[in-house]
Amino acid sequence: MAVNLQSLCNWKDNYQYYNSSLNARAPERLVMENKLYKALEREEFLLYYQPQIDFRTGKIFGMEALLRWNSPDLGMVSPGTFISTAEENGLIVPIGEWVLRTACRQNKLWQDAGLPPVRLSVNVSRKQVRKEEIVRQVFRALDDSGLAPEYLELEITESVIMEDPKCVLEALSEMKNRGVRLALDDFGTGYSSLAMLKDLSLDGIKIDRSFVRDVITHPGDRGIVEAIIAMARSLRLSVIAEGVETKEQLAFLVAKGCHNIQGFLFSRPVPAEQASMILQEDGCGTGIWHAICDDVSASLAPYPAACSP
Ligand code: C2E
Ligand code: MG
Ligand code: MG
Repeated sequence: MAVNLQSLCNWKDNYQYYNSSLNARAPERLVMENKLYKALEREEFLLYYQPQIDFRTGKIFGMEALLRWNSPDLGMVSPGTFISTAEENGLIVPIGEWVLRTACRQNKLWQDAGLPPVRLSVNVSRKQVRKEEIVRQVFRALDDSGLAPEYLELEITESVIMEDPKCVLEALSEMKNRGVRLALDDFGTGYSSLAMLKDLSLDGIKIDRSFVRDVITHPGDRGIVEAIIAMARSLRLSVIAEGVETKEQLAFLVAKGCHNIQGFLFSRPVPAEQASMILQEDGCGTGIWHAICDDVSASLAPYPAACSP
């Protein structure tokens, strides 16, 4: 997909501004910045999609779009390696716009192909939300793709709100009013207050992978996960657990009332073509994952019945 030229120009403005501190930067960082800029021009970015499953139906209700960089010299690069550099030099703005446009367009293509409609979650960096630009980007991605807003969810982290709370809240509420969903990613790992949860008018929260990982073996993590699920239920927020890798973790989460699951147990993030096949198969009969869900249901007897948040 073509890169938005205006965004690139904006980025170049930022780049000029940051030029004054170039001397202080590590050479590797400058090399990375240069490669990222070229990557955007040469369309080396792509999105992978990871299914989110409702345990009660065993079917997909959503997908998370996850950025990848297919670099000619570095191979397939994960976002953890380059997002912070892109945030520092402002390049996250045009990259983020590309992600939004690609994700909305892909979701509309799936719907037009007759696949079961799902919600697509897009990660939004705090550096993107700081600019009023984000509202324009989101609305344009929706308008140009023709995707209905309820099929787009923005995943923000607690840090988003820290920099300019008033401006961020205004931007987020404008998007909420349009019908876009808002979820708080990596919940519990930042510095947010409970009041913030209320102010943001969120639709859902995601339990961070770091808590899910040791939920079976570590009483502290178990307590945190239980508390997050209970809090989500009382605030009437939906809750998704991410990073679920084992049936034991799944059984625990379901027993505590968290039915929305994302993790390698069901699927790793996959390229768009593979995600299309997964959606296709998921739409048929009992779906792909009913065996795992049935197995875990059978093991649930020792736990008390739970109700969904
Ligand atoms: P995130 O938004 O919390 O995404 C979940 C991460 O957990 C993904 O890593 C996913 O591949 C990984 N994951 C999911 N299930 C499992 C599991 O069962 N086990 C393990 N070990 N990992 C699992 P990924 O794709 O490397 O993304 C890392 C982070 O990079 C994301 O964390 C998000 O903060 C950021 N990111 C990804 N795409 C974008 C994007 O388009 N824009 C922005 N601003 N940030 C992005
Ligand atoms: Mg996320
Ligand atoms: Mg997360």
